[in-house]
Amino acid sequence: MNVNVKAEPSFRESVDLMFNRAVALMDLSPGLEEKIRVCNSTYTVRFGVRLRGAIHTFTGYRSVHSEHMEPVKGGIRYAPNVHQDEVEALAALMTYKCALVEAPFGGSKGGLRIDPRQYDEHELELITRRFAYELIKRDLIHPSQNVPAPDMGTGEREMAWIADQYARMNTTDINARACVTGKPLNSGGIAGRVEATGRGVQYALREFFRDRLDVDKAGLSGTLDGKRVIVQGLGNVGYHAAKFLSEEDGCRITGIIERDGALFDPKGLNVEAVRSWIVKHGGVTGYPDAAHVVEGAAVLEEECDILIPAAMEGVIHMENAARIRAPLIIEAANGPVTAGADDILRRKGTVIIPDMYANAGGVTVSYFEWVKNLSHIRFGRMQRRQEESRHQLVVDELEALSDSLGKTWTLSPDFKARYLRGADELELVRSGLDDTMRIAYQSMRAIWHERGDVEDLRTAAYLVSIGKVAASYRAKGL
Ligand code: GLU
Repeated sequence: MNVNVKAEPSFRESVDLMFNRAVALMDLSPGLEEKIRVCNSTYTVRFGVRLRGAIHTFTGYRSVHSEHMEPVKGGIRYAPNVHQDEVEALAALMTYKCALVEAPFGGSKGGLRIDPRQYDEHELELITRRFAYELIKRDLIHPSQNVPAPDMGTGEREMAWIADQYARMNTTDINARACVTGKPLNSGGIAGRVEATGRGVQYALREFFRDRLDVDKAGLSGTLDGKRVIVQGLGNVGYHAAKFLSEEDGCRITGIIERDGALFDPKGLNVEAVRSWIVKHGGVTGYPDAAHVVEGAAVLEEECDILIPAAMEGVIHMENAARIRAPLIIEAANGPVTAGADDILRRKGTVIIPDMYANAGGVTVSYFEWVKNLSHIRFGRMQRRQEESRHQLVVDELEALSDSLGKTWTLSPDFKARYLRGADELELVRSGLDDTMRIAYQSMRAIWHERGDVEDLRTAAYLVSIGKVAASYRAKGL
């Protein structure tokens, strides 16, 4: 065996290696570094569900990385290969993500070893309710202790079942709805949660492109308009990111990579049409309006301006990293670039907008949903009409002035309509998300630009988050 060949680190090892690179540049008290790095606990549950005339046993996990703030927060994923190490890596990322965007949570993550496509809706409900029951009775789902959310393979439907299961088991808990986020609107959800992670990716890129120096660092120029984008994974996150970037920012989606291959068209793909095709046919195969590449992963290496891995961890690794041509990668998925690949890309000068920042839109809007559930009132309900009537006062005054000046100028109808309308919940959520993404970017960027020993945004992001977690531990006297 050639000892010079470095082995690919696992997902958890990758997160630890990246963490270690950052703490080496910090001055943490002895022991605190390890306290922050390690995962506090992982609960494994094996439970049986009677399906199709037989008992099927399932394995699930709920991992709590850090309880420096509670509740702890993080999604539950359904995937056939979920394992403890993966869930622990994801829980650690949740800690850093929440700290970076100032969502007042510790980090957690859950997983169920299941291929959801093998079960019908009723079976999935039975399985989800049973998994939730196991976690709820141990307070591993709880409004003030541990609040799950959707992740790969789960969505609004599963969150509604979990919320209902919690309510059945805690009939007098007035805050029951806050036990899980990502619920449908009619079960205590919030407007804009489904699109939130993809929307956050868009806001992150907009903030990046606001800064000449940062755009220069990636060897790019101009604005998002006309940029060629390749997206891996047209699930909830990739779909919304690609949709918003193409419809609102003028990006050209030149490649879409899915499980069964990729679509490629230098002139740009129609995201809505591709999505409808996938929903109907289960994949991109047969899509009529673009070239189909059987070896989908090869499209990661195509020339483009922005690469958005939005599918799963470890897709950019030591074997393909050197061939990645995108000058800018934004990690919409958690952990898509391994630590080994990260080294190679950094040396090449590729700019990576790291996962803990790039996909934090989901947990940010989850935070808003949790606050909404605890306050038992929809955002904007008290202020909207009051805001409108105050704006009406200004418009009336301006129109009176216009009359007194013989109507030599008037307000445009478009301005009036837009100015008079008070913000609804969706607008407030988007505005809160935009603000969060801008502030978090600036906090990373300041370190990236000001500290000579910090070469990349990922290390800068770790420095910001670890600093916040450490401060919280110090405040507790640890
Ligand atoms: N699963 C998402 C993530 O990885 C969302 C977590 C949440 O909203 O709590 O960030």
